[in-house]
Amino acid sequence: PKVLVVVAVSGCGLVAYAEANPERKLASSAPVLTSAEVDNKKKKVVVLGTGWAGTSFLRNLKNPDYEVHVISPRNYFAFTPLLPSVTCGTVEARSIVEPIRNIARKKTVDVQFSEAACLKIDAVNQKIYCRSNVENNLNGQEEFVVDYDYLIVAVGANVNTFNTPGVVENCHFLKEVEDAQKIRRTVIDCFERASLPAVSEEERKRILHFAIVGGGPTGVEFAAALHDFVNEDLVKLYPGVKDLVKITLLEAGDHILNMFDKRITAFAEEKFQRDGINVKTGSMVVKVTEKEIFTKELKNGGEVSTIPYGMALWSTGVGTRPFIRDFMSQVGQANRRVLATDEWLRVEGCDKVYAIGDCATINQRKVMEDIAAIFRKADKDNSGTLTVEEYKAVINDICERYPQVQVYLKSQQMKNMVDLLKETPDVSKGSAELNIEDFKTALSKVDSQMKNLPATAQVAAQQGVYLAKCFNRMEDCEKNPEGPLRFRGEGRHRFRPFRYKHLGQFAPLGGEQTAAQLPGDWVSIGHSSQWLWYSVYTSKQVSWRNRALVVTDWVRRFIWGRDSSRI
Ligand code: FAD
Repeated sequence: PKVLVVVAVSGCGLVAYAEANPERKLASSAPVLTSAEVDNKKKKVVVLGTGWAGTSFLRNLKNPDYEVHVISPRNYFAFTPLLPSVTCGTVEARSIVEPIRNIARKKTVDVQFSEAACLKIDAVNQKIYCRSNVENNLNGQEEFVVDYDYLIVAVGANVNTFNTPGVVENCHFLKEVEDAQKIRRTVIDCFERASLPAVSEEERKRILHFAIVGGGPTGVEFAAALHDFVNEDLVKLYPGVKDLVKITLLEAGDHILNMFDKRITAFAEEKFQRDGINVKTGSMVVKVTEKEIFTKELKNGGEVSTIPYGMALWSTGVGTRPFIRDFMSQVGQANRRVLATDEWLRVEGCDKVYAIGDCATINQRKVMEDIAAIFRKADKDNSGTLTVEEYKAVINDICERYPQVQVYLKSQQMKNMVDLLKETPDVSKGSAELNIEDFKTALSKVDSQMKNLPATAQVAAQQGVYLAKCFNRMEDCEKNPEGPLRFRGEGRHRFRPFRYKHLGQFAPLGGEQTAAQLPGDWVSIGHSSQWLWYSVYTSKQVSWRNRALVVTDWVRRFIWGRDSSRI
């Protein structure tokens, strides 16, 4: 029997506790559910996580030869790109979630779900240790151990605070549905508090100052959503304080949305300036207290300034979950930020474990080696140089193969890379050739930046689909270990490696305007892209129920505006 296990991570309190205490010993008497107990003919696949990666794996798995056990502290899938809309009530929280049991119910594969967090992976004995995340009186029965034949780790990432003092205590995050609901309540709360008669003018200004740390897509989208909420709805309800509202976006780099095309960055910065959203670039947050944010102004020689605020959102990228860090040290990856996998999404150093989504990345070192190999292959005459045409073909080949490089190359940083390449002697002299050593030097310069690429739902979902397809064929392949004729001789794996297809990305900028960067470097900004955004996000919902609810919410908002009740 074969079992597939998927593990997911949630933002609930108990998970946070468990993650904060990874060393806590689990009860040795915790029951072990063996695959044989479930069905002794099937292999057990355990899936950790019900996010983009875990859910897309589950939805695409069709092979009834597996027994699937999904484990996640959250019993639903959440459509994260619409979380900023939930913060301001443009869309309701329940419209963007789908119960995982609803998804599992429609499968022909045996699926079992447990609402619990994985606390430890024991890869040697093929077991995972879990604990229910619900406060209950189960007298120790909330802990259990599950064994697996295959483990799929799809637990996403947590927020990266860079250990900045005061962030966890004072800032909001926007990762989970609960976070979005909390932000919505806090925004209204700020307006109500600022409207109290005894509050001084200065204190009102502070309370109505909304600070957003991080100028990436989430921070920018939240700033835009908040601006719309304030100007379209709240100003009518709180006329006495409307002129005191301020929104500030703090970004340590030189520009906001720096992973997008330069035209989009410029448009967003100009639009925010017109809208009165204060964009402070070169501003690095070093400490947050209950009422003030301390920033180091990188453009002013590191001068520290303080910003009084009423509500702060921290949105500066993703970090590693503690139990994943523990697992990484078990498999010799202790010095990495996320789990390294090979191109078939298997965790390096661990045979039966796969990792997909935000918690994993394809090993960069191998990528660089492969890129050099692609170059050598293109260098047919072994001269160590490529013509510009050959060079372009190499870039296309690389783009097709590697998600992280592709996003990188298609983004603004691609231009930086091309600039770097242009600085190399052969190209700058006008020669049509590029030296392999110069090419490698340029690539190594961008290597460190590539590691910091944002993790996206698009990559996570495609990895889930890819892995499900592998599992759908795994049994056939085991019966025919030589694999399809065309792959014989490569000796690496029986499936094609994972290839990412970049379908473009959106940046909603408020006022019914969206920036879209589509494949082929096609950029569209404005109202037409907003309609494209509406249609793409409607079609990407995981059920017809979600589609209907989301569209209804948008229509409701157009007719009656957003609801400002603080519930
Ligand atoms: P997640 O979707 O985060 O899922 C992780 C799962 O693991 C969850 O179910 C969680 O409960 C579970 N889990 C956590 N801990 C444990 C544990 N200990 N044991 C078991 N299970 C556990 N990407 C885009 O491509 N386009 C966008 O427009 C976009 N917008 C975004 C907007 C916001 C506000 C945010 C926060 C993200 C956005 N993203 C977007 C990024 C995208 O959401 C992530 O890249 C994506 O969710 C990653 O999928 P995942 O499955 O790896 O992780």
